[in-house]
Amino acid sequence: MVAGGKRDAFHFVGVLGWPLEVTLSPLMHNVAFRQLGLDWIYLRWPVPPDGLADAARGLRALGGEGANVTMPHKRAIVAYLDSLGGDAVATGAVNTVQRRGDQLVGHNTDVVGFSEFLVEDAGFEPSGTRALVLGAGGAARAVVKSLADMRVAGITVAARSDKLAGEVAELARDDSGRTTEVLAWKKMADRVAQVDLVVNATPVGMRGEPLLANATFNSDQCVVDLIYSPPTTPLIEHARAAGATAWGGLGMLVRQAAASFTIWTGQQAPLDAMSAAAIRGIGHHH
Ligand code: NAP
Repeated sequence: MVAGGKRDAFHFVGVLGWPLEVTLSPLMHNVAFRQLGLDWIYLRWPVPPDGLADAARGLRALGGEGANVTMPHKRAIVAYLDSLGGDAVATGAVNTVQRRGDQLVGHNTDVVGFSEFLVEDAGFEPSGTRALVLGAGGAARAVVKSLADMRVAGITVAARSDKLAGEVAELARDDSGRTTEVLAWKKMADRVAQVDLVVNATPVGMRGEPLLANATFNSDQCVVDLIYSPPTTPLIEHARAAGATAWGGLGMLVRQAAASFTIWTGQQAPLDAMSAAAIRGIGHHH
């Protein structure tokens, strides 16, 4: 509903990003809307950084129900919102905007997306385990918050910038007795043997670049590469060859989309249909 106005035929949402070349979100959500018979539509909104303020005002003025927010806007969008909810507060990053009346509320569903993927899809029980997270961007922040919520016993963050890695590790610091550590990017391969879970939250591997090629994996370990296109990376192949269980980023992508869907529509998302749509979409990009 548009505040004070008449109900439109369609509710609309979309994804704000730049350059937004590859996004599977319109496909996943439009399939989900159709599956549930909802008169909603999901659009693609490539918006450069200097257009973000106008885009947020436009969303409000035109009566959009909300938006997904992706690179590079996840932090910048906060300035144009009325409030933050849930994990957006701790991470300072928003991937989902919800309009409530004339208010725009920011959420972060990457955190719950990663948690649900790890436990429900990958079958990994994080409580008491040790994790190594590579990267210090938005995805790394969501993963570290998720792992802290799920009570991992130790978190090591490795990134090119020790300062940024320290800020990410800070998200896992509480009074639970958990160890948090920042590791220099060059030293991370040595640490792999001591952890139960390795998560790549950098784009290294999107173009087939090796990552942790000198590390020794074992069959008790779980490896998650958040990259979903291509579906397998050299890291995944290397870890699997050593017997580790290794996953790409598709599961998290579908789970965060499902959580956004529920925030907007109040309905349970059709996970299978969204997952199938995403796999089809990746097929088109390769
Ligand atoms: P981001 O905020 O731009 O952060 C990227 C991080 O990767 C930064 O820490 C950056 O370090 C590091 N990095 C970039 N190139 C590197 C290189 N050549 N060597 C070492 N480190 C490098 O991006 P993001 O949103 O966190 O996304 C990161 C990855 O996760 C992307 O591949 C994205 O597609 C994926 N992702 C997947 C999902 C999902 O649902 N599956 C969700 C979100 C993100 P510097 O600061 O030093 O540049």
